[in-house]
Amino acid sequence: MIVLAYGKRRTARAVQGAPAIEIVDLRVRYPGSDRLALDGVSLSVSPGARVALVGPNGAGKSTLLKTVAGLLPVSSGHIALFGHPLEACRHQVAYLAQRSDLDWGFPISVRKLVMTGRYPRLGWLRLPSREDWRAVDEALARVQLSDLAERQIGELSGGQQQRALLARALVQEAAVLLLDEPLNAVDATTRQVVADVLASLAAQGKAVLVATHDLDRVQAEFDDALFLLDGRPIARGVPDTVRRLEQVFGEDCFNFVHSP
Ligand code: ADP
Repeated sequence: MIVLAYGKRRTARAVQGAPAIEIVDLRVRYPGSDRLALDGVSLSVSPGARVALVGPNGAGKSTLLKTVAGLLPVSSGHIALFGHPLEACRHQVAYLAQRSDLDWGFPISVRKLVMTGRYPRLGWLRLPSREDWRAVDEALARVQLSDLAERQIGELSGGQQQRALLARALVQEAAVLLLDEPLNAVDATTRQVVADVLASLAAQGKAVLVATHDLDRVQAEFDDALFLLDGRPIARGVPDTVRRLEQVFGEDCFNFVHSP
């Protein structure tokens, strides 16, 4: 049973048998835009499932992740987590933005960056406890960054930055993880660390939704897939998604989806 609560004020339990993420007929329009960025997207993710979001640039993958993270308003449709409205359990969502969306010149050490993932649990004005620092150090070890803990984040390679973001999400201890292109332009060590961590999170019953261009990984490491095109769902399931990608983009589809 996943308990969605922490602290004294939040006491909710997952509704028995409810999906970890349930998205029903979602439509999202950016303020000032005359077109829908997401149009009629439905998706159900079970606890313990790893689901890939696939599609070319502009398909709506980031928009979907940001909306489930509560960062963009829903225009119509519904999102529930473990049977509760999204607004009631936003703290149960760990969202990893694309690496390029962040300011890596900000003067902060890797260890302190990872601690910021703990802030929603701390609340305002509470200082991190020894237990919080221990969680940070465990997460850094899990992503193989212990040796670089005191470095400035700007000194890290792209793959190391990705692993730091993953550690930051881990310390949140959320039940739902949303990752935007975590495998884009990273080294082999980072790919393996990300794959191992996602597998172990899924084994703990967490739900993992990942936007990715890496079709080989989708086939090897994901339980389910959703193919988006122009904000609309085109295919569902790993085999169907791969088959439809080939139909839509022809033999070059692998090159196409791998392009930045
Ligand atoms: P993907 O992640 O698949 O590359 P996005 O979710 O970034 O796709 O984009 C989906 C659509 O939403 C695109 O048409 C894009 O131009 C539009 N879009 C993305 N961000 C914004 C924004 N801040 N304002 C207006 N439109 C946006």
